[in-house]
Amino acid sequence: MAATRLDGKACAADLEERLKTRISKCHSQPHLAVIIVGDDPASHVYVNNKIRSCERLGIKSTHISLPEDVNQEVVAKHIREMNSDDELHGILIQSPLPQNLDEESLTELIDPKKDVDGFHPINLGRLVQGRADGMVPCTPLGVMEMLSWAGVDLSGKKAVVIGRSFNVGMPQALLLAAKGADATVTIVHSRTKDAKSECLTADIVVAAVGRPEMVKSNWIKPGAIVIDVGINRVDDSSRERGWRLAGDVDPKVEDVASLLSPVPGGVGPMTVAMLMANTVRAAESQHS
Ligand code: NAP
Repeated sequence: MAATRLDGKACAADLEERLKTRISKCHSQPHLAVIIVGDDPASHVYVNNKIRSCERLGIKSTHISLPEDVNQEVVAKHIREMNSDDELHGILIQSPLPQNLDEESLTELIDPKKDVDGFHPINLGRLVQGRADGMVPCTPLGVMEMLSWAGVDLSGKKAVVIGRSFNVGMPQALLLAAKGADATVTIVHSRTKDAKSECLTADIVVAAVGRPEMVKSNWIKPGAIVIDVGINRVDDSSRERGWRLAGDVDPKVEDVASLLSPVPGGVGPMTVAMLMANTVRAAESQHS
């Protein structure tokens, strides 16, 4: 039997309705600033999606677009000014930045209270400590929200996370293993000897690798839940634009899994929705 589709768009729409109620009760309108550097078309599409979401929800947005050759100090100055603006609650630097900029030190300049991406070391540290007062990275938080929305009980389940990046794989593993979620977690990475065997033991597989359709149906235990975080552009001459989006999971996995998140329409919309949720949370806590 084909897997049930874990519909990220529907889950995100549900979350947005709950956010609208919270926004209506905020002392001042939540306000998100997005800094983008350079002309990368994909990054501009992502930023426009975020701004559209803000508009839909009644979150104020400020879009700061800087040229490719901007220097570190100019970006840093923008961040410092935004840190001291009491009417601005969330700051996001669209990744990737051009090579001449040091993304890590710019991220560390953001006030942790306004770090709606959750990438500041203070916020990642709070996640490791199991504290609830930090900002949590949007993509892994979105995966947790989707699993909860679908009524998945993680307690005692075996989860495999493929990928150990600081923005997706590692925080995902921490969230799955955290008290309250209580899964038993294995992290698979590029030096793992036998990724397929690891996955075959899992009740839940979260793939965040960046390798199109790497996870095959014979990697998945029948009835397992599979979350596909991957967003990859692959050549496709049958499409007018010459490419299509592919996840990290082969679509044939739907013949084996019980629940599968699609690409597109799965984790992607949830990532944007969680950014909105983090912005609302930042506004609530900064005015409480
Ligand atoms: P990343 O920083 O490149 O990390 C990829 C991870 O995959 C690394 O930990 C790497 O291991 C591991 N890996 C690479 N090849 C592997 C292999 N053959 N077997 C096992 N593990 C392997 O990427 P990322 O930022 O985490 O993103 C991962 C994917 O998610 C990308 O497709 C990205 O576009 C997508 N993404 C989607 C969203 C969304 O909103 N849906 C958000 C963020 C990212 P090592 O550490 O050993 O190198």
